[in-house]
Amino acid sequence: MAYLANPKNTVQILEKYNFSMQKRFGQNFLIDSNIVWNIVEAAEINVEDTVIEIGPGIGTMTQFLCEKAGEVFAVEIDKKLIPILEETLSDYKNIRIINEDILKLDLTQIADGKRSVKVVANLPYYITTPIIMKLLEENLPIKSITVMVQKEVAERMRVGPGTKDYGALSLAVQYYAKPEIVAIVPKTCFIPKPNVDSAVIRLTRRTEKPVKVNNTTLMFAIIRAVFNQRRKTMLNSLGNAGNINFSKEEIRQAIEDLGLRPDIRGEALTLEQFAAFSDALESQTS
Ligand code: SAM
Repeated sequence: MAYLANPKNTVQILEKYNFSMQKRFGQNFLIDSNIVWNIVEAAEINVEDTVIEIGPGIGTMTQFLCEKAGEVFAVEIDKKLIPILEETLSDYKNIRIINEDILKLDLTQIADGKRSVKVVANLPYYITTPIIMKLLEENLPIKSITVMVQKEVAERMRVGPGTKDYGALSLAVQYYAKPEIVAIVPKTCFIPKPNVDSAVIRLTRRTEKPVKVNNTTLMFAIIRAVFNQRRKTMLNSLGNAGNINFSKEEIRQAIEDLGLRPDIRGEALTLEQFAAFSDALESQTS
């Protein structure tokens, strides 16, 4: 089977199967072989690795992944793509095609007991954040996540306080992983062309967390509540949050214990400060 990573072969296979792209599934297929190689190289795949590819599409990047990895699990939601994938990947014995929604799939079934698991994907942009959060928060034995996302979202993953892009995604990514942007990808590398430029970001999972916190669940509940109402002071956003069971007085006390101004907004806090705040709040009930 010929490589798909060029406009001619991509159009040919799409026409053969009379396949029309689904906007609702975020379908923008890569047609540039250099970019596809760049992503696979950035992921540092070798035969020891089990790769999970999210959204293989017609199998453009999957072909390259199958040549480098020990085994590849390609998870695709669109059942109309399955017969196409069966043809385009027919040369490879180390591929498993799974017709599922990645957000509903129990990834422990794939990842548990494997020597080295890496996620590689040109992600569907409409669900980038929930996918990244699932991969980070479910405590799966994943070494790295190398993904194409909107350029702006890649920026959001690596910024700190004091920028408009700073938010819950930045903090989750930086707590669990080390983010590095490895390439900027213009719109012209896809069909159909997306509205925005893209970036490839590699998240290498940390073996040691950058901050110590007693209760990670509480810290991220606080972070989510604060950024859901980022224009409000921390006291007000947490005081009104349904998922935080602390009184306004306890919240005020924890802010004071940290030596912060009472009218501080959560968006000004670093990861270290969120961790300290979470511990201070929790210590009031113990
Ligand atoms: N990897 C291909 C490429 O680079 O040419 C396609 C990338 S396209 C941006 C995103 C892919 O994710 C599509 O194939 C789409 O059908 C698939 N997809 C969308 N939502 C999904 C979900 N919830 N679970 C699994 N795959 C999904």
